[in-house]
This record gives sequence, structure tokens and C-alpha cells, in this order.
Amino acid sequence: MSPEEFRQAAHEHSEWITKYMEDVREFPVVPKVQPGDVTAQLPAAAPEYGEPIEQIFGDFQTKILPGLTLWNHPHFHAWFSNSASPPSVLAEYLTAALNVNAMLWKSSPAATELEQVTLGWLRQWLRLDAKWFGIIYDTASVSVMQAIGAAREWIAPECRTRGMQPGLTVYVSEHTHTSAEKAAITLGFGQDNVRRIQLDGQFRMRPELLEQAIQADLAAGKRPCCIVASIGSTSASAIEDVPAIADIAERYKAWLHVDAAYAGPAAIVPEMSHLLDGVERAQSFVLNPHKWLYVSMDCSVLYTTMPEVFRRASSLSAEILKTPEDGRVVNFNDYGVQLGRRFRALKLWYVMRYYGLEGIVAMLRETLRLAQVLKGLVEEDADFEVAAPVPLSLVCFRYRSSDEVNRQLLADINASGKLFLSQTVLQGKFVLRFAIGNHQTTERDIRESWQLIQRCAAELAVVQKSNA
Ligand code: PLP
Repeated sequence: MSPEEFRQAAHEHSEWITKYMEDVREFPVVPKVQPGDVTAQLPAAAPEYGEPIEQIFGDFQTKILPGLTLWNHPHFHAWFSNSASPPSVLAEYLTAALNVNAMLWKSSPAATELEQVTLGWLRQWLRLDAKWFGIIYDTASVSVMQAIGAAREWIAPECRTRGMQPGLTVYVSEHTHTSAEKAAITLGFGQDNVRRIQLDGQFRMRPELLEQAIQADLAAGKRPCCIVASIGSTSASAIEDVPAIADIAERYKAWLHVDAAYAGPAAIVPEMSHLLDGVERAQSFVLNPHKWLYVSMDCSVLYTTMPEVFRRASSLSAEILKTPEDGRVVNFNDYGVQLGRRFRALKLWYVMRYYGLEGIVAMLRETLRLAQVLKGLVEEDADFEVAAPVPLSLVCFRYRSSDEVNRQLLADINASGKLFLSQTVLQGKFVLRFAIGNHQTTERDIRESWQLIQRCAAELAVVQKSNA
């Protein structure tokens, strides 16, 4: 591709992106496709000869885009809603063009140093002290795997050379994100050595049951290794009692990892700083700028007070990777399984600088307020009920009817293409989840979305009546 051809194509792509951002509400958030529809439009083999970029871009618009669920849409409220804010999009463009690899300091010095600087800034925004060492992984799932790997190195360093030792146990709650259990499976702990501690009425791990489980394991000759506590659990955004869990971790000398993947950024807001109570006693904790800090997928930040343990768990000194600066610099690949590492710090830096602390706090605060607006709307309608506390930006609710009707309601809402919600089960009942987190979502969007939900419920009630 000649520079001229690139300039022209880049201009067209950039115009398209800008227009998309402007008109995003005109696009359906959920595609109307069936499995296989997209594949059926694409050739079975890659082209023999190169094709013009306009043709590829045209096919993107007509064949791929209609099959995409639009995560960066103000009406995307499934799972955890997130944002690729404009400064993050610009940084991704530069990152792709430069294609640098942040595996060693030497492999791209500014990429490593910017990672250290931005994670230092973020640490200050979170009011954490300087003992925390930060590293960016792709996702919280990989972060928790590295954390549990470090916990194993700390408790049973012989695993590094001899392989997995029997009886090492991991403690999660019934609502801890599945990535923790997956990590335990991947690392060889075995599902039988993962304890899923029961929840209290607010969907938080019950510390007294955690302690009982640890005592039972010790009595059976097991070795408690790692406890994963959640601040903002996936199903219901529960904030667990980290100080009480930290007491237990300290008492039994287990590693404490805190999963604040979704909720962590909210602690930047001064009146939400209590969210991180107890975190200062953990060995590691994770938050995802790609969930609620306006940074595009993917960017997960892990902080640890034990970077040396992460290093011991993962580093190997290969001749090909040795550099004259070793010993004076951080080589981030030493702290995880990945060698090649994307230059993710750039987009975090762009976002932190563009919005500043004041802007980020205002955006987070607005999202927290919108969740309370929605909660109020649900409470005002006698046909609905709020199904879990709303401490953050997730509203769990249900139509006062059977699970089957709620399932149909969710299907109807999502089939409208105008709104995308997801579901969970709380206290045995099917519940709809409405997660707010996109930087473009406004109060008007929330009110219109609620009216759509009410309309779908009313239509469903009519159909049910006529079927009765
Ligand atoms: N932890 C929590 C609380 C989550 O909600 C999620 C995903 O939604 C994860 C971890 C996993 O995040 P990731 O997609 O970055 O692996």
C-alpha cells in the first residue's frame, strides 16, 4: 500500500468512525442474525489475489457490521457495559501503526516506562500507597491466573520445579467470577480444590464460612493457598467484606487477591473510596480500565505488593532476551506467561490525560447517578421489583411474574435491537441485569430504555392474557 493510498483509506476510515460515533444511536445494538448468517456471506477461502481496500471496507460495512453486537453503544447494558472513548480510539490507531512490543524495556523503552508512569498515576488516583507495583495484562482472567500462580509460588515454591503439589486449595465465593476457578483448573489445582463459599443476603462471601472451610481443609491436611474476594461481583455487583476476609487470609497465611475488575475504577470518586477498604492488606488486586475507565478492550491492571513473587513464578532467563540494561530496568515479560505484550499503556495515558481526574470523576459519578435513576424507575412501577442492592452501576430487576415470563421479556427487549440486557439467577430466580458504563449513555437514554422495557412487559401481559 503506497503512502498515498494509505492516506486516502485512512481518511475514509476515520470519517466513517467519526460518523459512527455521531450517529451511534441509529445503529441496532444487537444484530438481527442467526448462527451462520455471517459465514454464509463470506467466501470459503481467502482471495488468491489482493483486493482493493475500498471493496474490503465496503464488505465490512455491508457484511460484517450488521452482524456485530455493538459494545460501544450507549444502549449496551449487558454483562458489564464499557467504553472505547474517543481518546482511547486514537491511541489504538497509533498503537497499531507503531506495532511496538512491550516485552522488555529494551524492546521499546517508552512503552515500559509509560506503563510504569500511568500505573503510578492510576495508583495515586486510587489513593493507594507507593508499595504497589502495577502491570497491565490483557484481561482480568489472565490477571487472576497470574495472581493465583504467584500465590502458589509463595505458599509452595517447590511447584516451580517439581510440578503441582497435592492439597493446595483456592477459596472463592459462589459469585466470584468464573475466571478464578478457570485459573485454578489451568494451574493444576483441580476443581475439587476450589471451595465456593456461600453468600449472605446481599450476595457477599460469608467470612465465617470461609474460615470454617479453611479450618476443615487444614484438618484434612490441605494447604490453603489463595482467597479471591470480590469488589463488584459479576452477577449482582456485591462488595464483599474485604477487611474481614483479609483478617482470615492473614490468620491462615493465605494469599489474598481482590477482584475489582469492574468496580475498581469507581474508587477514584472521592465519596466511593470506601470501596477499596481492606485492599491495602491484599497481596494483589485487579481493576479493568477496559470495563469502567473509558479505555478500549483490552486493558486490565494488576497491582501487587509482591512483584518479586510474580517474577519468581514466571521468569526464565533466555539468552536471546538478555539486554545490557538487565537489573536496572523492569522487563514486564518476567511477570507473566506472555512474552509479546501490546502497548496498552498508551491508550490509558491518552484517556487519563484527555479527561483528567476531574473529568473521569464527573463521568463515573454520572454513571453512578444514572443507576440510581433507573433503580428509582423500577421501584416506582409496581409490576417490577429491584432484585439486588445497587451500590454501583448495575441494576438487577425482575418483572413480578414467573421465570419463564422474565426470560421471554429479556428476549423481546433484546429482539427490539434498541437495547441489550443480560440475565442472572439470584436466590433461585431469573433476573434481568441492566449495567450502565458507556460514556455516551445519558439520563434520556435510561428513561427511554425503561419505557421500552415497560412496553415489552405490557405487550407480553396482553399475549399471556389472550393465551389464558
Ligand atoms: N471479574 C469480574 C468481577 C468480572 O465481572 C469479569 C468480567 O465481566 C471478570 C473478572 C473477567 O474479566 P475479563 O473479561 O477482563 O477477563
